Amino acid sequence: MLNRNLVKVLSKVYRYENSEYDFDKKVDVYQIPDSLSNEQKELLKASNFELNRVREHNHDNVIKELKGIVENAHLEYIVSNMFIKAIGSGFNRGIQSIFSYYFAQNMPLHDFDLLTRKGYRTENTCKICGINKKMWHNDSENLYDLYIGYCRFGGYAEMLLDLKEVLTFKNITATDNEKSVFLKVIEIIENAPNDETPSKLIKRLAKEKCLPGSNNTSRVWIVKCLAELGILKNRYDANYSIMNPFIHYEQKLEWELDIHKNSPSRAEVEFPISAWRGKLGVNRDYVEKIMANAKTR
Ligand SMILES: [Zn+2]
Repeated sequence: MLNRNLVKVLSKVYRYENSEYDFDKKVDVYQIPDSLSNEQKELLKASNFELNRVREHNHDNVIKELKGIVENAHLEYIVSNMFIKAIGSGFNRGIQSIFSYYFAQNMPLHDFDLLTRKGYRTENTCKICGINKKMWHNDSENLYDLYIGYCRFGGYAEMLLDLKEVLTFKNITATDNEKSVFLKVIEIIENAPNDETPSKLIKRLAKEKCLPGSNNTSRVWIVKCLAELGILKNRYDANYSIMNPFIHYEQKLEWELDIHKNSPSRAEVEFPISAWRGKLGVNRDYVEKIMANAKTR
């Protein structure tokens, strides 16, 4: 696991002003800025962290590797505890992994299957999982994003980067206090006014100061993750959850286009989060499932 001080130094490196765009590979690469103190430069050097690990990923390999990783029986326990810690104590690295795990677990093993849609740029997207056929990534920057709680929900090769690192984590167990904060947050969400929108919910969670150690970025992604887990219900599928049988990318795209049709033209919409309103409330079954999976066996 990257240590906290290194993540702080990286937050000064992975900024737009230090980046250069590689047009061939369509990725940003970064230079160490002069603004780093000598101490920070030393820390970075001593960590051996490679700032620009740029790699090519291809769909079929990502899928095979994801399916292989989730055969590890211990993973469900780790990701459940990580997520409770993310909510209970601001452990931002813990938000993404529960999504990555269930995505990989429930997704069928498959070869790339091109999405074809009129008027849509889809020459590179798989209709089953949404992962691109081929793409270059700056894995180092993507890993840093996971540490600040900036997630990728949907078809992204970053899930593999995520779970590969999670396999190296040991002894991640949520404390009783983190578990009670988690349950308290669910209760606060459950008490939403009927017309509450996701963005109002995020503001309310900030105001209630119920998410210790959180910031704007992590609160947004925690709420989006709760929608992916089906804890926040959506109006398209009452039983939707990434923990349930896999829903193809093509179907999710369909729902997303439908949300678009019924939203102001400039609104950013995303399935499932944009399809939540306060009156739909919370699905307690999925809360209990995560709590049960986080118990030591
Ligand atoms: Zn696919």
